[in-house]
Amino acid sequence: MSERTRKELLLQYPGVSPFAILKADMQRRAITYTPAALALVDPAIHQVEYVGYNIDKKDLAIPCSLLLRDGSTVMAAPFPGKANPYVIDALDGKPAIFDGGEYVEAAEYWYKPAYYSKTTSSGKPMWQVISARPQRLDVNPYNFCHFWDNGKGCKFCAIAANYHKHKHEKELALDPRDIAETVAEAIKQPGRFANILLTGGSITRGETPFDAEVENYITILKAIGEAFAAPRFPSQLIATAFNEAQLERLRNETGLMSYTADLEVLNEEKFNWICPGKAEWIGYKEWKRRLVAAVGVFGRGYVNSGIVGGVELAQPHGFASEAEALDVTLTEAESLAEQGVSVVNCVWNTLPGSVFHNQTVPSLEYYVRLAKGLQDLRVKYNLNIDMDNYRRCGNHPDSDLAR
Ligand code: SF4
Repeated sequence: MSERTRKELLLQYPGVSPFAILKADMQRRAITYTPAALALVDPAIHQVEYVGYNIDKKDLAIPCSLLLRDGSTVMAAPFPGKANPYVIDALDGKPAIFDGGEYVEAAEYWYKPAYYSKTTSSGKPMWQVISARPQRLDVNPYNFCHFWDNGKGCKFCAIAANYHKHKHEKELALDPRDIAETVAEAIKQPGRFANILLTGGSITRGETPFDAEVENYITILKAIGEAFAAPRFPSQLIATAFNEAQLERLRNETGLMSYTADLEVLNEEKFNWICPGKAEWIGYKEWKRRLVAAVGVFGRGYVNSGIVGGVELAQPHGFASEAEALDVTLTEAESLAEQGVSVVNCVWNTLPGSVFHNQTVPSLEYYVRLAKGLQDLRVKYNLNIDMDNYRRCGNHPDSDLAR
């Protein structure tokens, strides 16, 4: 049976926002920009990247990503080799989304925050210290993941292709002073930011494994905290699954508000194959146990786990059918929801540089049913997902449905 199209799914799932369905499909199929769409980019006001990908001139500015009319953020980018991407073109002098030549929706490019034009006292441009999403500050204090030290990083992840372990670690780490100054400057802009995210690769070192990673985050969170009068500030840490003592330190020594540790795939056997580093250092059952323990530390509604939705269908060891994959994933998600842990889905993209770069992603219907299933679980267990909603993150079609 052929896959249902986006238009068919809009009719079949009237309770799922058409914006969330479009977003999932754009993330799944990627996007491309026409020269007319790129001509609408103004680096003076828009957030841009300077990458080559599928355009002729490598020095052209490409928008970081898009916003939809309902405020949804679409984290989608041009990727080489994608067969059937959505096309961003110009219509009446504005960016618009097209599929197969047909108009789909209006779009907007992300606007640059005010702090992007400032520098820290050490002379570093602030946009290099902290990047911004439409309503979130993204702090990435450490851009290498040591699960790759013995080649056991996650098979969907391209971090090892971008950051090599032979680089000196000091090159990869950010200075807490630069981060503190940048946060203080960024939050001066009225109404712009709702959250601060910290995330980085796993650092296995320490007396207890991952103590070095915890220490790093504590240093940065303390520096960020200087910008706030209240003891706790709107924040999310996406990190390794820490033990109780490490979680207590994060909660007690910093102003951190919420905690995320990504299981990536909700089945032990697939987890062991797809995330061998996580399996080796912590293990699936212990990762889950630590997530539940984190609810005791940060509270219900302040702990969740991300999955790379669809990666459980990677071959040759993934599930053979979408029906089985969905059933197993939602059953596992329910066991976490019962214990106060939300699951949020990132649409799997077969990134260049990842082990899985040649794989095929599932149908759009799979993502629609997964988004609906995860949101239905949150309703059933009265789990609030504001910590990872469209304002605080913007990457999850399922948490967009919580509005
Ligand atoms: S834990 Fe996995 S997904 Fe995260 S940075 Fe390391 S290899 Fe990549």
